[in-house]
Amino acid sequence: MTRREELAAGLAAVRSRIATACAAVDRDPEGVTLVVVTKFFPASDVRLLADLGVAHVGENRHQEAEAKAQECAELSLTWHFIGGLQSNKAAAVTAYADVVESVDRTKLVAPLTRGAQQRGREVDVLLQVSLDPPGREGRAGAEPAALPGLAAAVADAEGLRLRGLMAVAPLGEDPAPAFARLAAIHHDLLLEHPAATWLSAGMSGDLEQAVQAGATHVRVGSAVLGSRPAVQ
Ligand SMILES: *Cc1c(COP(=O)(O)O)cnc(C)c1O
Repeated sequence: MTRREELAAGLAAVRSRIATACAAVDRDPEGVTLVVVTKFFPASDVRLLADLGVAHVGENRHQEAEAKAQECAELSLTWHFIGGLQSNKAAAVTAYADVVESVDRTKLVAPLTRGAQQRGREVDVLLQVSLDPPGREGRAGAEPAALPGLAAAVADAEGLRLRGLMAVAPLGEDPAPAFARLAAIHHDLLLEHPAATWLSAGMSGDLEQAVQAGATHVRVGSAVLGSRPAVQ
């Protein structure tokens, strides 16, 4: 099998999983955007994916993302930044990221705004919310209680568009109840910010549960590209 054939097979399998998950809850698959997470994989894979019809790619490390986006600059791809953001890198991310999915604290709003304004562009923002029990170490995302303040800060910022929420299911837990909590949190956000309709949830292992909970974006890496090197 060529790499192109491998990627085509992975994509077909994931698209069929999305279609089946949508059918089970009577949703239109057009309402679910597939973001293929290309972290750790080379720009050559991004090119093949674009050629196979992928329109959205996700990356989680700034330096790697910046280099890959430059190498693929002529492709019409929407780049999603999905990783932990340092405030001193946040402005630079707006050079290539069309969507920043991992905004989890108000400290990021000023540098993102500055980056977007310098480049004269609008950046779509998702707020990353933690679905972990309070106090668990090591997983990213804002506490749900902090979302109203964070949402207001993004909504008021020039050059940033508040689009919705992003979350990762807690490790070692059934993703379905976690995504149900996420859907309830999203519902509350929509009362205040009716345009924030995007819900990014679901990865290779739990995209069905995310689609069932109303995800509009799924972020899928290994099910399309194969397994990543174990060490980051
Ligand atoms: C790596 C990553 C994904 C994709 O994970 P897979 O299990 O390979 O599908 C999705 N979301 C985030 C935030 C990630 O870092």
